[in-house]
Amino acid sequence: MRASFRLGRLFGIEIGIHYTWILAFALISWSLAQRLFPQVYPGWSTGTYWITGILAALLLFVSVLLHEMAHSLVAKARGLPVGSITLFIFGGVSNLEEEAKKPSIEFAMSIVGPLTSLVLAVIFWGLKQLIEMPASPAAALLSYLWTINALLAAFNLIPGFPLDGGRVLRAIIWGTTGNFVRATNIAAMIGRFFGWTLIALGLFLVWQGDFLGGLWIAFIGWFLSTAADASRRDMTLREGLRGVPVSALMDTSTETVTPQASVEEVVYNIFLQGRRHAVPVYQDDRLVGIITLTDVKESPRHKWNQTTVAEIMTRQPLYTVAPEDDLSSAMKLIAQHDINQVPVLHQGRLVGLLKRADIIRHLQLSQELGMRPGQDRR
Ligand SMILES: [Zn+2]
Repeated sequence: MRASFRLGRLFGIEIGIHYTWILAFALISWSLAQRLFPQVYPGWSTGTYWITGILAALLLFVSVLLHEMAHSLVAKARGLPVGSITLFIFGGVSNLEEEAKKPSIEFAMSIVGPLTSLVLAVIFWGLKQLIEMPASPAAALLSYLWTINALLAAFNLIPGFPLDGGRVLRAIIWGTTGNFVRATNIAAMIGRFFGWTLIALGLFLVWQGDFLGGLWIAFIGWFLSTAADASRRDMTLREGLRGVPVSALMDTSTETVTPQASVEEVVYNIFLQGRRHAVPVYQDDRLVGIITLTDVKESPRHKWNQTTVAEIMTRQPLYTVAPEDDLSSAMKLIAQHDINQVPVLHQGRLVGLLKRADIIRHLQLSQELGMRPGQDRR
């Protein structure tokens, strides 16, 4: 998940907020200030309800951030590159650039999140015991925080992928059977089942009249089952491409254009001629960009003859792969940056273009023929 706003760095990890988080923050502050606190603690002023509500929502997100931070720091300590942490509507997500290579690492990385939430729950509970007035805003705040952190720990320990508990389960099955694919499939199946259960529960609550709460739970369920599905698909894909070199599937045409060429030339001479939807742009024997169909679509058609490639091409960031790279990592790069193709360079020279569509077609074909991808060449 890519962040919409960046907050800054903590221990070298980029912290960001996805725009959906703002909605969650507003909704939680509002429901605390207008619903929960007035019901449980009558008699405060409106301002007190709001300040306590907003403070509680903020501290909830600090708690979520600490939970994610724990995952990321353990990952980092075990040598995995950690990209960033993004807070979004359903909590937080650590964007890891690589998956754990050993079950023990995955186990430690996953369990530490719920443990952090549990420790936070105990700390907030302990602080609450020190407060003498049980109906004061401070007591209300601490009560909310210890309860919500305990719930976070419990919820995340449910053994369905992609929840932490699902990862813990996967690590255990993976560790005992040595079969990563089977472990992922089992954890993802439980994850999907749990997601559907939440959707059913949410709809039941809506039917019972709790519209907002029910909808929220149903959405979380939907999110979980989709994520479980996606991670399973993603794994099948990557397992299928592992060990196959980029050179096996790349388009070996090395046609390039110069930055001075007109967009019209590129469209008529290249895009409309064949199946290519992108051309690397070269100047003085150096790759300076890539011009894609997406770039062209953004430029008004009647200006194509006056527009040069340099004006609309994608310059930065320019991703490339090498012919001997593994297709699974190349596919990950393509998916992560949501691009459709990537130039293949060998010692700085262009040797081809790797296209997302070709990878997908190859996977579909091998599946239809009942072959393992990459095994069609002898
Ligand atoms: Zn977690």
